[in-house]
Amino acid sequence: MVEENEDLKEKIVDRQILNLPKEVKFCTRCVMSNQRPRITFNKEGVCSACRYAEYKKTIDWDKRKQELKRLCDKYRSKDGSFDVIVPCSGGKDSSMIAHRLKVEYSMHPLCVTFSPPQYTDIGWKNLRRFIDSGFHHYLVSPAGDLYRALGRMCFELYGDHNEIFDRGQMSAPFRAAVEHNVSLVMYGENGEAEYGGTSDYNESPGLPWEAFEKVYYSENLDEMARLAKELGYVPNIQPHDLDIFRLPPIEKLKDLDIQMHWFGYYTFWEPQEHYYYASKHTGFQSNPEGRLEGTYSNYAQLDDLTDSFLYYMMFVKYGFGRATSDAAHEIREGRITREEGVALVHRYDGEFPAKTYKIFLEHLGITEEQFLKTVNKYRLPHIWKQENCDWKLREQVR
Ligand SMILES: [Zn+2]
Repeated sequence: MVEENEDLKEKIVDRQILNLPKEVKFCTRCVMSNQRPRITFNKEGVCSACRYAEYKKTIDWDKRKQELKRLCDKYRSKDGSFDVIVPCSGGKDSSMIAHRLKVEYSMHPLCVTFSPPQYTDIGWKNLRRFIDSGFHHYLVSPAGDLYRALGRMCFELYGDHNEIFDRGQMSAPFRAAVEHNVSLVMYGENGEAEYGGTSDYNESPGLPWEAFEKVYYSENLDEMARLAKELGYVPNIQPHDLDIFRLPPIEKLKDLDIQMHWFGYYTFWEPQEHYYYASKHTGFQSNPEGRLEGTYSNYAQLDDLTDSFLYYMMFVKYGFGRATSDAAHEIREGRITREEGVALVHRYDGEFPAKTYKIFLEHLGITEEQFLKTVNKYRLPHIWKQENCDWKLREQVR
């Protein structure tokens, strides 16, 4: 049945590609492309993430630390019951947040992980080491057959198999907050500000509920359920099958006064420092196999075997990949020069994830031909050109 709906499948795309600027440009300060959804460039050609990185240096961080202290004073439990939910993958950033909240701010975190599609060995070990270092933890795992079928649908329709994972990841902490009567949910960084996106919430300690679905959810879950049934990805889907991915009703979250905050609003966000911190305090280890495919770094987002294809599809859709993202923030942090960043992008960006290709195809239950069909659906003519049967980027950072 999936194959019978080819025409309709072709027409459904990641809506973010519809609003991309038709002329590709790169930030004059980092290496980020203007094709990153929602990023803005000023007239000097500097991207919003670089401007935010400059602005961060002027923030009074002692004052922000006091704000965090007051926030924790307000929510801290007196009887040891959970008082903060920390969405936590066992990665360097979330491990650092949970540890600091517990040790520096005397909070009682309940850590919540929404399971990635397929754990890596190192990701699973890091999560276990984190739990063993002294944290209560919930792992939320959707049924594997449903998760894979929805992953396939999200890949073929939106070019992003993890769209469904993102939904679960953003919802599970709030479901836990409701269940355990905890009002405070502490996320990591404001990704829109740090990496380039809307600057509307740069001064906000968290995302207001009114904006939550707009910023974090590209696709409506009920619409996804309808497509899963009609296009035959999950023909017998039941009304409550997707509840595990669903955010509690926003009205209910407001009534319970559940608040979402970013730790990155209160403390200077510096991923490499988080790596050192988590290594020291929660047993975090970098990838034993060295750098990850498509980039030069070895300590970020290690837990999901299918993750390389998230970045590969980003490269296909927008013309920049994981190395660009990594180099851009390291340039902003002053760890590498722009010239070094450009060289790293030329060397690693868009590298095909050959090591996990077979696993990815098996995971989604698709053939190589079906994979390539989706990939080529997302090669936009203003980003890509074909030369002697090879796809080449029209513009590269220089
Ligand atoms: Zn920039």
